[in-house]
Amino acid sequence: MPVAPRARAIEDKLVAALMRASGRSFADEGAARTFVNEELAFSEGRTYGGATTCLEIEGADSSFFILDMGSGLRELGNDAFRRMAGGHPRVFNFFMSHLHWDHIMGFPFFGPAFDPNSTIVIHSGHADCEAALRRQQEEISFPVAFDWLRAKIEFKVLTPGEQYHIDGIDVELMPQDHSHVSYAWKFRKGGHSFVFSTDAEHRMEDVEDKKAFEAFFDKADLVVCDTMYSLAESITLKAGWGHSSNVMAVNLCHGAGARRLVLFHHEPTSTDADIDRLFEETVRYEALNRKDRPPLEIICSYDSLEVKV
Ligand SMILES: [Zn+2]
Ligand SMILES: [Zn+2]
Repeated sequence: MPVAPRARAIEDKLVAALMRASGRSFADEGAARTFVNEELAFSEGRTYGGATTCLEIEGADSSFFILDMGSGLRELGNDAFRRMAGGHPRVFNFFMSHLHWDHIMGFPFFGPAFDPNSTIVIHSGHADCEAALRRQQEEISFPVAFDWLRAKIEFKVLTPGEQYHIDGIDVELMPQDHSHVSYAWKFRKGGHSFVFSTDAEHRMEDVEDKKAFEAFFDKADLVVCDTMYSLAESITLKAGWGHSSNVMAVNLCHGAGARRLVLFHHEPTSTDADIDRLFEETVRYEALNRKDRPPLEIICSYDSLEVKV
């Protein structure tokens, strides 16, 4: 579910900030901003947000590269209109992890899908991707039918293990343990690699899974990983729910020699302070388990986070 902070959560942040400032005054907006960014915890001064999965990769030759169609896609569509007005080609390459509601719900609100000058190519490991997108816009669920969309829309089913070259970027996918299967995607260009691996359950005792994912994450510059649960949750109450823990994500990235890990797909019931804690615990766990490996940088995702690969 997409989530947004309630009034009381914002009030709590303001109270915490004013208490921390304890009567200090700031010469200008810049000084106040420095205080917020450097002296407050992330959860005190900001929010992780709560849109569902939607990421963008900038770096294709002449198209947008978009990963999943969660609720974040609505804003991405508006931003794309601004960029297209500035000359960006009206071509959208989508790459789908899977077809669960939280990963497709943004598509009916994606403005460029209504633009007859847009071309949309939806890459998926699922042969039923088109059926899933059409179904969520059937009259019983939504007022605007899929066929009413004016963009040129094409579906491409890709095969795990194959190498694809799409608009200047090397692309491959790999199946993951999740209800109705999900796919991890790897994107490579100019010696840099980025892995998007969400909605995947990794079990500690599964040696084959560990080997396969360490190979897929191999020396990646950046890995976005499903870290919805703590290790304790993931092996008890929430075992079999299709998601992983921060601990498993660090273990796989350590084994793969990856450089940076982004904690992703936060539990919607977590508060900003809960996510702060998950982040701090992950940083500590990484340092304790690093041994003689080079450090794995941990980044905690929030809505609008940008990372250069
Ligand atoms: Zn899912
Ligand atoms: Zn999900």
